[in-house]
Amino acid sequence: MESRWPQDSLGLYVHIPFCRNKCPYCDFYSLACSDPAQLQAYTESLCREILSCPPKYRIKPVDSLYFGGGTPSLLTPRQIGTIIDAAAAGFTFHKEAEITMEINPATINQGTLKAYQKAGVNRVSLGLQGLQDKELKVLGRIHSAADAIKAIEATKAAGFDNINFDLIYGIPGQTITDWMHCLQQAIDYQPHHISMYLLQLEPQVPMSRAIAAGQLALPEEAEVEAMYYRAVDSLHDKGLKQYEISNFARDGYACRHNLRYWQFGEYLGFGAAAVSRLGGLRWMNAADLNIYMAREPNRASSGQIVLEDMTPRQQALEAMIMGLRLTSGVNLEAYRKRFGMDLAQELLHRAERFIDHGLLETDNGWLRLTKPGYLLSNQVLCCFAE
Ligand code: SF4
Repeated sequence: MESRWPQDSLGLYVHIPFCRNKCPYCDFYSLACSDPAQLQAYTESLCREILSCPPKYRIKPVDSLYFGGGTPSLLTPRQIGTIIDAAAAGFTFHKEAEITMEINPATINQGTLKAYQKAGVNRVSLGLQGLQDKELKVLGRIHSAADAIKAIEATKAAGFDNINFDLIYGIPGQTITDWMHCLQQAIDYQPHHISMYLLQLEPQVPMSRAIAAGQLALPEEAEVEAMYYRAVDSLHDKGLKQYEISNFARDGYACRHNLRYWQFGEYLGFGAAAVSRLGGLRWMNAADLNIYMAREPNRASSGQIVLEDMTPRQQALEAMIMGLRLTSGVNLEAYRKRFGMDLAQELLHRAERFIDHGLLETDNGWLRLTKPGYLLSNQVLCCFAE
């Protein structure tokens, strides 16, 4: 699936680092918060950061704005609207810009959803994660299965016509029957997009400790593999086409913001711990709320750190790695034009052993992962890392 959006545009990401409670599997930068004053102060900080963005960063038009977290739906519609207005005042927006907001099912009702829509949000990503109480409890989510269903119905009733469901598989205690039942239930609600993520745990999160202590057990590897491939087939049969390893959409509903990452496009991140990339430079705001809130924009004291200053070769390698996550793969002619013939040849040469093993394929000028290659993508893609 190809993006119809040009590379000469920009995506904006706004990080809301607050959640009602911390989920035991989560490693994102987010803090438990229910203090309206803190949420308001953070909103004001975000607006200041957006409006003080240097003019040199504002040259390209914006075609996507993404509120991620954390739990963006802890902010009121008025606060979300204020941030969208600040972004629209600071940048030139494409008239059909995609404005996505991640929503936790426990935090909204039809009224607030309508108000978010009025504020400018035109795509909703519902963090369902599961549709069975047993799994939601293991995940430590603040919502029940009934809340999830209520949220789906409210989102539809509010009139959103671009809806994503986030789902997690490979949850401790989950069987393939549980997972397929959850997926089928989700499909029955006819979302435009589904992102399904394998539960992946960093060693320091509480769920990893519970597993190490024998209190929880992850499904076997073969079962997880079956969960993935059966879901891929099921989603395909229902018209949700796979366009990335973990992402599926009806025609015309691929997430424009995330496509930007996979197509090695540029983006600016705002908020604590938000990451930006322009050209070869990737940097991150302070992953510390106090430092972020106290910062002086565009000064050394802002707490920003440079994550990478990539050479042209490193950028080309990353573009290949990201592009191969898409099921369409990488168009070799376009890649040669963008990064040069010699590098394209070198990478094709490196790809040969995976082509021989049936994990990569070339087809009509494209290089792509094969279906068996999707779940082994980490091992395959690291051959392009250096
Ligand atoms: S709601 Fe999302 S961001 Fe917040 S703790 Fe849970 S998984 Fe992490």
